[in-house]
Amino acid sequence: MNTPSHEYSMKAAVLVKNKVELKDIDIPKVGNNEVLVRMKACGICGSDLEKVFGKYGMKSSRIGHEPAGEIVKLGASIKDFKKGDRVFVHHHVPCYSCHFCYNDDFTMCEKYQTSNIDPCGLSEFILVPHWNLSKGGLIRLPDNIDFSQAALIEPIACCLRSLNKVDLKKAATIVIFGAGPTGLMHMILARFFGASKILLVDVNSFRLEFARKIDQQIEVINVANMQEDEFRRKSLEFLGNNGSDVSIVCTSNISAFIQSLSITRRGGIISLFGVPPKDTEVNIDLNMIYSKELKILPSYAASEKEIHQTIALMEAKIMNFEPLITHKFPLRDSNEALVHAHQAKDSMKIIITSG
Ligand SMILES: [Zn+2]
Ligand SMILES: [Zn+2]
Repeated sequence: MNTPSHEYSMKAAVLVKNKVELKDIDIPKVGNNEVLVRMKACGICGSDLEKVFGKYGMKSSRIGHEPAGEIVKLGASIKDFKKGDRVFVHHHVPCYSCHFCYNDDFTMCEKYQTSNIDPCGLSEFILVPHWNLSKGGLIRLPDNIDFSQAALIEPIACCLRSLNKVDLKKAATIVIFGAGPTGLMHMILARFFGASKILLVDVNSFRLEFARKIDQQIEVINVANMQEDEFRRKSLEFLGNNGSDVSIVCTSNISAFIQSLSITRRGGIISLFGVPPKDTEVNIDLNMIYSKELKILPSYAASEKEIHQTIALMEAKIMNFEPLITHKFPLRDSNEALVHAHQAKDSMKIIITSG
């Protein structure tokens, strides 16, 4: 019997130069040890914007890596899941048996960086390959986490990893550069972990005001058209003369990193979280880094540990991240959603839905 070919094809976002186009591609074939998930929600990440509009240095050029959905098809050997299961899909999973994994540098594992879902998060269906399944890359969602919330799991886990690295002490003073979605996730988490003073820095007044509605105790500084010494004076007025215990750079903006060097206290920590564009060079005084004993800790992506921590935090409803979602776009409007996220005029987290 002849089956119409469209039953085998699906829509998926494909990166074409500086935009994404929705193309008809084949639905991936599901092997014995694989699972096919119907995408229900997938967040747009700053790294997606960097891939589309900027210069992204990492290996993958797939768009969308924060998907959640529903299992529609399983390979014959799959016993742990069933059709209809609501799941979070983690696109990268490490091997747990290499030198990097033994040293807990899971996101540096070769397998972590090369493993992926097929084709990407911005797609009607997503194949979870055997490798991802065998290493814990498919996780059943608790009933009280809906798909939109589940699309926040991956970015929150990334922020959690960055905060775990800086080992936030109680009563720490924190500066967050970049009031985008991950800046605000850091803000919510840092408050939960006991930060006493949080200063948020950006050039976007919509986003700074948005943040203040979520946490009325934060201080904000809009650095648009602000001289360095004025920024330093204003921030130290709030932080105290020592400066911040921890500075988190949640933007790819170089001047934010430079500013973090000047207002982080002696012995303090800088988390380099926002993805700097490829080939970014900065002129910094190494003597100053040395004499201030500044610790610069880049944090790339998240491992299963933080994914599970995040799901537990969300399930317990201790923190509410949902207000961060300002827009939902259907898959067919993916490019519009990316442009909207890139302009950042009135948006925080943007979620793509299956509709
Ligand atoms: Zn991301
Ligand atoms: Zn490994």
